[in-house]
Amino acid sequence: MVVTTVEVKQGEELFHNYGPDVLHFPKHLRQQILVRQYQFTCDCNACSVDGSKEPQYALQCEHCSNSVWLESDAPKCDSCAGVTNVQKFHLRIELLNQKLSCLEDNSSSSSHFVDSIVEEAKLLYSPESVMFGNIMDTCALFYAAIKVWNKAIECSKASCHVIEAATGKQTPTYALELLKSCDIRIEALENRTPSSQLREDVLFCVDLLKHCKYVGLERLSKIIEWSDIRW
Ligand SMILES: [Zn+2]
Ligand SMILES: [Zn+2]
Repeated sequence: MVVTTVEVKQGEELFHNYGPDVLHFPKHLRQQILVRQYQFTCDCNACSVDGSKEPQYALQCEHCSNSVWLESDAPKCDSCAGVTNVQKFHLRIELLNQKLSCLEDNSSSSSHFVDSIVEEAKLLYSPESVMFGNIMDTCALFYAAIKVWNKAIECSKASCHVIEAATGKQTPTYALELLKSCDIRIEALENRTPSSQLREDVLFCVDLLKHCKYVGLERLSKIIEWSDIRW
């Protein structure tokens, strides 16, 4: 069964993803896989972007906040013309990954430790990069585990932003990311006074999930129940 997340007019063309998507493969790999398996060169919206400058694979210039890509030995920033030290960058990414492994091995990590990961990720990656989104997603769960709700919600919003930028709003991937974010927000509600922003966020999810009927109805009814009880 296929369920659409937007209304489809009679006769309107539907598009389907052949597997390798922007969240998991950079353009050159997506195209390689599609040519090998299906013998066509993809020219979808995502593939119309210059492969060496895909926003979802961007890092952040160490001199300004512009995006840079490590496609050469000494990448130059388009905005400030500063040159990025690739070796230093890789070293910092390696250290960050080590910290992430420590985090995953220890579910009771301190808020301070998670803060340090978030801060470093914000300095290294573009806010639209897939790696940044994955790290924010992980940190959101760890903040939620230690009940640091504001930071958990902030990280989960950052993760949703990455998916939205890469896939658009009308996609199941984005809906599922919102659902995850909704989970954290509902849990936060049990622990503190709901703010107008939270109400808005949850209602948005409720609205979206009503539309995406494929998502578990139990989950949806829990959300509706919460929104009714709390507001
Ligand atoms: Zn494509
Ligand atoms: Zn720069």
